[in-house]
Amino acid sequence: VIDGVQLTDIPFELDVPGLLKKLRIDGRPEYARRFSGLAGQAAGIGRPKAVYGLAYIDSASDDGIVVDGVTLTSRVLRVNVKDAHRVFPFVVTCGTELEIWGKSFTDMLERFWADAIMEQGTLLALHALTADLDRRHRAGKTAMMNPGSLADWPLDQQAPLFAILGDLPARIGVSLSDSFIMTPMKSVSGLRFPTETQFENCQLCPREECPGRRAAYDPGLYERQYAGGSGQA
Ligand code: SF4
Repeated sequence: VIDGVQLTDIPFELDVPGLLKKLRIDGRPEYARRFSGLAGQAAGIGRPKAVYGLAYIDSASDDGIVVDGVTLTSRVLRVNVKDAHRVFPFVVTCGTELEIWGKSFTDMLERFWADAIMEQGTLLALHALTADLDRRHRAGKTAMMNPGSLADWPLDQQAPLFAILGDLPARIGVSLSDSFIMTPMKSVSGLRFPTETQFENCQLCPREECPGRRAAYDPGLYERQYAGGSGQA
């Protein structure tokens, strides 16, 4: 990538009422009090972070694209970036500080709450990255794809994505295991790209009752928009 950007000063402002509601403990004062205590601790410790860079699409085939000389294999990605010439590979994380803090809990319930707090840290980092990208690159409307969220772009595609990112993830303490899992666990990697078409991975994902769903599943979308070429579904 070129123009690598590192965001390490992201305000960690937890939406405690929103989290209480999401965790369904807003009507339970004792739980709410315990949770607020945890949120207070996390707010003092948490340092969500993000890195991203600019990369150019060298070429495209039916089943993928070549970015900075590295092949990314996904029919859906290939179709989604058909009008783009540049992409923005990124990693965001809740940060090693919160990861260590989260591991200190032995109580199942507190672990679950700590997870929700860490996830919000990751989300704040993602919002900060999108805002920074927009400010610096005037990328306009963008969409995102993440290795591992669709069968079409499986988890092992983390390897080429990290190859494109180079040393950027390590700068914010994120590493990739041999089984393509990131540490800290509450990290998200992917590509953002300019697009005029609204796209969310969830539109192609049939998972039922997913708490993270951002768009309705559209069973006919793959056939309508992405079938063709020799791509695998
Ligand atoms: S529905 Fe859930 S699992 Fe599927 S892509 Fe969306 S967030 Fe991920």
